[in-house]
Amino acid sequence: MTVRTRIAPSPTGDPHVGTAYIALFNQCFARQHGGQFVLRIEDTDQTRSTAESEQAILDSLRWLGLEWDEGPDVGGDYGPYRQSERMSSYRQYAEELVEKGHAFYCFASAEELDEMRREQQARGETPKYDGRGLALSQDEVQARLAAGEPHVIRMKIPESGSCRIPDMLRGDIEIEWSQVDMQVLLKADGMPTYHLANVVDDHLMAITHVIRGEEWINSAPKHLKLYEYFGWEAPTLCHLPLLRNPDKSKLSKRKNPTSILYYQRMGYLPEAVLNYLGRMGWSMPDEREKFSLAEMLAHFDINRVSLGGPIFDVEKLSWLNGLWIRENLSTEQLANRLQDWALNRDNLMKVLPHAQPRMETLSDFAPLTSFLASGMLPVTETDFSSNKLDLDDQKRVLQFALWRLEALRTWERDAIFEELKTLSGQMAIKLKELLAPLFVAIAGTTASFSVMDSMTLLGPDMSRARLRHAINALGGVGKKQQKKLEKAYEQLAEERSE
Ligand code: GLU
Repeated sequence: MTVRTRIAPSPTGDPHVGTAYIALFNQCFARQHGGQFVLRIEDTDQTRSTAESEQAILDSLRWLGLEWDEGPDVGGDYGPYRQSERMSSYRQYAEELVEKGHAFYCFASAEELDEMRREQQARGETPKYDGRGLALSQDEVQARLAAGEPHVIRMKIPESGSCRIPDMLRGDIEIEWSQVDMQVLLKADGMPTYHLANVVDDHLMAITHVIRGEEWINSAPKHLKLYEYFGWEAPTLCHLPLLRNPDKSKLSKRKNPTSILYYQRMGYLPEAVLNYLGRMGWSMPDEREKFSLAEMLAHFDINRVSLGGPIFDVEKLSWLNGLWIRENLSTEQLANRLQDWALNRDNLMKVLPHAQPRMETLSDFAPLTSFLASGMLPVTETDFSSNKLDLDDQKRVLQFALWRLEALRTWERDAIFEELKTLSGQMAIKLKELLAPLFVAIAGTTASFSVMDSMTLLGPDMSRARLRHAINALGGVGKKQQKKLEKAYEQLAEERSE
């Protein structure tokens, strides 16, 4: 048997460090067994998937030095490697399960199901699909299908007992069937759900080992059942521990930047980031902290993964990155890295048009633009105190601007400006006053060139990270305040659409 592993990212946002972590372990496992590592794009959610996100995922994984043997960009014998290009086959698989008696049609509308859940909750039960579709007779189903009624296909789930999930790291995991919903396999619009598409493609792509994050454990009973229903051999499952913030909560961008592009922009070396991700739950036999991908591979043993939640700590990463810079790069190589990273002509040509109008001497260049080549700026509350709005209002502005800019898909000057102008109208705050805290957050001072230009040059990841950093400098937003702000923000948006 040839070992085949895969990662299956959904291209719905920034390339996440968690994706790189899972990819690294899949690649090492495949290489160690002389097998293949596949990259498949799971873009069945067409409203949220974007081509830019897919490109950013491929680029950033490659930047880190990861290499897949098959994928949408490199081809392979099991393609296409994008689920959107495999759509024609999923319906047939769902219908096959209906024919075999393992799945069924359900015609219940969203309102009907809401009502069902409300009644269950009123009775103190956990809301769950109650199997109403199973009660329909064959004739009724045929008649409703013939009449073109909207429908989904759901899988049957055993009524009692439990599912045993053999996991490479965790041994057997038991989950009661009573906790598992009769999962929709094919949606009303004919699109497969993640569960159907994932199982079908893992099978068709001859994946032997599914190594993924522990957040998917609860999906495993459905997946194993689907393999059984189809009569296919299930792959070996392995659920890696989730990355965590230093406070042990699940890694989240509110507490830690999670986008690989942020770490690239910050000037971390790809070797160091990959090294650090290799330290997440795994260690070298001699416990050494610094190692290359080749060294990791030479000693790789998935059984050395420990299940205690690995902490992704930016300070530790910085320490390791420092070792790589000081110990592994010659002066010549460092000069090249700096040039590749920011000090290249392309970059200068983008930055200079903004700096030049403010320059008297060439030596003005560095102070005028240093914020563009910096990481987090050392802003404190006092930096905001000469702005017109009071500090609470400034914090609110920063939070609302952040939310708007997090939702922005095209990071261009005019689009950023439109967002902020709309926000200023909605909040009834003059644009100049609204922009003042953003200036401080982004450039460290209000005496800089247009904050929209600065954000365009800095890119989305660093810009958003600096806005978050500034919010924290102003005391941060606690859970309670967050709820309040979310409400106020939603109200703004509603007023706008009225
Ligand atoms: N598309 C899923 C994701 O976004 C894949 C999960 C899996 O590996 O099965 O992570």
